[in-house]
Amino acid sequence: MTTTAAEPKRPVSADEAREVAEAAREQEWAAPSFVRDLFLGRLRTDLIDPYPEQDPAEIRRAQPFLDGLEQLLRHKVDSDKIDREGEIPDEVLQGLRALGAFGIKIPREYGGLGLSQLSYMKAIELVSGVDGSLTALLSAHQSIGVPQPLKLFGSEAQKKRYFPRLAKGAISAFALTEPAVGSDPAAMETLAVPSEDGQAWILNGEKLWCTNGTKAELMVVMARTPSKVVNGKERRQITAFIVESDWPGVEVRHRCHFMGLKALYNGVMRFTNVRVPKENVLWDVGKGLKLALITLNTGRLTLPISSVAVGKRCLEIVREWANERVQWGKPIGKHDAIAQKIGTMAANTFAMEAVAELCGAMADRGGYDIRLEAAIAKLYNSEAGWRIIDDTVQIRGGRGYETADSLRARGEKPVPIERIMRDFRINLIFEGSSEIMHLFIAREAVDKHLQIAGDVVMPGKSFGQRLSGLARSALFYGWWYPSRWLGWSLWPKHARFGPLAGHVRYVERAARRLARSVFHSMIRFGPKLELRQAVLFRLVDVGGELFAMAAACARARWLERTEPASGRRAVELADLFCRQARGRVRAKFKGLWRNEDVPTYRVAQEVLAGEHLWLEQGMVELE
Ligand SMILES: Cc1cc2nc3c(=O)[nH]c(=O)nc-3n(C[C@H](O)[C@H](O)[C@H](O)COP(=O)(O)OP(=O)(O)OC[C@H]3O[C@@H](n4cnc5c(N)ncnc54)[C@H](O)[C@@H]3O)c2cc1C
Repeated sequence: MTTTAAEPKRPVSADEAREVAEAAREQEWAAPSFVRDLFLGRLRTDLIDPYPEQDPAEIRRAQPFLDGLEQLLRHKVDSDKIDREGEIPDEVLQGLRALGAFGIKIPREYGGLGLSQLSYMKAIELVSGVDGSLTALLSAHQSIGVPQPLKLFGSEAQKKRYFPRLAKGAISAFALTEPAVGSDPAAMETLAVPSEDGQAWILNGEKLWCTNGTKAELMVVMARTPSKVVNGKERRQITAFIVESDWPGVEVRHRCHFMGLKALYNGVMRFTNVRVPKENVLWDVGKGLKLALITLNTGRLTLPISSVAVGKRCLEIVREWANERVQWGKPIGKHDAIAQKIGTMAANTFAMEAVAELCGAMADRGGYDIRLEAAIAKLYNSEAGWRIIDDTVQIRGGRGYETADSLRARGEKPVPIERIMRDFRINLIFEGSSEIMHLFIAREAVDKHLQIAGDVVMPGKSFGQRLSGLARSALFYGWWYPSRWLGWSLWPKHARFGPLAGHVRYVERAARRLARSVFHSMIRFGPKLELRQAVLFRLVDVGGELFAMAAACARARWLERTEPASGRRAVELADLFCRQARGRVRAKFKGLWRNEDVPTYRVAQEVLAGEHLWLEQGMVELE
C-alpha cells in the first residue's frame, strides 16, 4: 500500500462514489438490530418488550436542567421576533450556556451535564416545540458538531482540551458539504496535505451551508487527505479534523439565508492554508466518513424527536381551532374531512414518539446496533411530521397561510403554523435527505443477502467466485427461504400485547413477506436492483411502517402498565395507527409488482432531454 498526493478536481464516477460510501460503512453487526431482523423476516419482540425504560435516577438528575430550560423558553424566547430579525438574542444564548445546554451529553468529569441520550432528546423536544432555529443551533452543535464525535472517537488529550470549552458554551459546527458535495462525499475538494515539518496538516477549501459556522469557535471539518493505493487502485481518503475558527486562514465568506430557520447561523466557510496540528485529527487519518456515519447513528435522533414536538404543537393548534371555528353550522372538527385529518394526526404523533423514544432508549441501554432504527426514525418522523404540518395549515384555512405577526396585528391569536411549516421543510433534506435515507436503509437491509449471494448476482465476479457463491447460497437459502413462508403468527402468539396482539402478529407475518419480497426483488432484478429505486423505496417504506407499528404497540403496552389512565388512550391510538399502517403496507406490497415505474422513468428522461418543452410554453421567460 502506498500513498499519493490528493489531486483536486477530478470527475468522480458512480463506481468510485459507491466505493467511498462502501468503505465508510460499518461492515460488522456486532449487536442485534430489531429492524435488520425485520427485513430478514424475523420479529424479535424480545428486543423491544419489556420496553427499555429510562433509568429513574437519570430522570431525577435531568429534571432541574429540563425545568430551567422550560423556564428560559417560556419567558425569554420570542420566536416570532427571532424569525423576523434573524437573530437569536444574546440573552437567550447566555441563558442556554448558563443552564449547560451546550454540554448536555458531555461527561461530568469534563464539565458537562453528563446526561443520557433520552434526556438530551427531552431537551430538544422542549426547544423544538418553541423554536426551530434554536433546535438547529443546539443540534448542529451537539448531534453532529464537535461534542459527539469527540465523545465517541476523541483521544484523552483532545477531550481534556476541548470538552470543558464546549460544555461552557463554545459553539461548534460540522463542515462536510461543498458546492459539488451534497449527498455524495466522494467528490470532496477540500484538501489537507501534511506540512513540510510533518507536525501539521495544511487545509485548503470551501465548505457550504455550515450550520453554526458564523458563530462557531470550533468545528469538525471533513477533508480529503492523500489517497492510498490498494492493489493498484486509488482509494480516496477522507479525514475529520477539529479546527478552531480563530486560526489564521479560517474565514466566514457569507452568511446563508433560507426559506425558514431565519436565525440559523449558517455560512460558507473558507480555509486558506490553515495549519491544523496533527493532534487535531479525529480518530484516524482516512476514517472521517466512517466517523460521520457512526456519529449520525445517534446524531440522527435529534430530528425525529423534534418532529414529535412539532406534531404535538400541531395537535394543540388543531384541537383549539377545530373546536372554535364554526362553518356550515358546526365546528369544523365535526366535519368528517377535518376529523379524519385530526384522528390521523393524533395516531401518527403517538407512533412518531414511540419510534423516537424507542431509538433513544436503545441508544442509552446499549447492546443494540441502532443504525437502521435511527435512519428509519429520521426518515419516518420527518416525513410524517411534514404531513401533519400540511394538514394543520389546511385545517387553519386562510389563517394557516397568514403570518403570526399579521394575525396578531389584526387582533387574532398569533398561531405560528406558517413559520413552523417554513422551519420544518429542511428536515427532509439535511442530515441525510429522504432519498439518501431510503438508499442507506435499503443497502443495510439487503446486506445479509449480499454477504450470501453477492458473488452470484453482482457483476464482475470470476467463475470461481460465482461457484462458491452458489454453494453458499444453496446452503443458506435451502433453509431460509422455505422458513419465510412458514411460521405461526396467529392467535395466541404475542397475547401479552393484549388488544394490540393482532397487530403484532400482523407485523410478524408482514416481516416474513417483506423478507421474501426483498429476496424476490434480488432474483428478479439482479444487479440492476440498485437502479430500481422506486422498488427499493417501497420495501424500505414497508420496513418503516412495520417498525413504527411494533414501536407503537410496545410503547402503548408499557404506558398501559405504568400510567393506566393515559395508557388506555395510548392503546386506542396505537390501534388506529396500526390499522392505518396496515393499509399503507398492503398498498406498498401491491405496488412492488404492479406499478408505473418504467413509463414514469421514461417520461422523466424525455423531460430532461427537452422532448416536452412544448408543455412549458405560455410562460414568461425569466432572466
Ligand atoms: C439549512 C441547511 C443547513 C445545513 N447544515 C449543514 C451543516 O451543518 N453541515 C454540512 O456539512 N451540511 C449542511 N447542510 C447541507 C445538507 O446536508 C445538504 O443540503 C444535503 O446533504 C443534501 O445535499 P445537496 O443539497 O447538495 O443535494 P444533492 O445531493 O445535490 O441532492 C439533490 C436531490 O437529489 C437527491 N439525490 C441525490 N443523490 C441521489 C441518489 N443517489 N439517488 C436518489 N436521489 C438522490 C437528493 O435526495 C435531493 O433530493 C445544510 C443544508 C441546509 C440547506
